[in-house]
Amino acid sequence: MFSLENVSKIYNDSGISFKALDNVNLRIDKNEIVSIIGKSGSGKTTLLNVMSTIANSSEGKVYYKDILLDELDEKEKARIRLSNFGFVFQKYELFQNLNIYDNIIIPVKLLGNNVDNNYIEEIIELLGLDEQRNKMPYELSGGQQQRVAIARAISTKPEVIFADEPTGNLDSQNSNMIIKLFFDLVHKYKSTLIYVTHDVNLAKKAGRMLTILDGKVI
Ligand code: ADP
Ligand code: MG
Repeated sequence: MFSLENVSKIYNDSGISFKALDNVNLRIDKNEIVSIIGKSGSGKTTLLNVMSTIANSSEGKVYYKDILLDELDEKEKARIRLSNFGFVFQKYELFQNLNIYDNIIIPVKLLGNNVDNNYIEEIIELLGLDEQRNKMPYELSGGQQQRVAIARAISTKPEVIFADEPTGNLDSQNSNMIIKLFFDLVHKYKSTLIYVTHDVNLAKKAGRMLTILDGKVI
């Protein structure tokens, strides 16, 4: 599903360059659940961003299936992000002016697709959000908002889900429950999940755990 060949990412900020990814070689297969663990500043988010077209690599090649992502223009990348990828962020990033139901279906609307009501109802049910559907994000607890963020990420049935510290704002009990729900959905809908965490216990729950240190996958 993903293949990274000698990928480096160099940030240039006011004349100072910093190598956030250092010659990364990596393959991730379809249906894998992969965790990326590493200290703060080790390059976890950068790796996720480079794989998900949010950031360009500076050197090397990033393939998604047989598509060389580095060669796509911004419009093509945006299309891949919307139709093939789902994203879950640490701080949920829900739209505060939309209710829960509309937050969940917004990627489907942006794609211009019809809402598959059976599917959307199923994920609302599985994630325990039925009573929340007409509420606004601020009316929900952190754990509930994170479940909405997961529902939104899978609303388009993406091939790949990228999650950057998806339980970073939750207590460990909530984290474990949400990771379990997440895995169940990934299995059920045959997605590939790549998630970042700095929590070893959460990372160990993946099928494969990648450790990143100073921009190198070790
Ligand atoms: P992590 O997610 O593991 O905490 P990041 O991938 O966010 O790490 O960052 C890796 C390193 O790259 C850090 O040292 C960070 O300061 C640096 N970095 C990240 N984004 C930028 C940027 N836009 N410009 C300059 N340096 C950056
Ligand atoms: Mg990060």
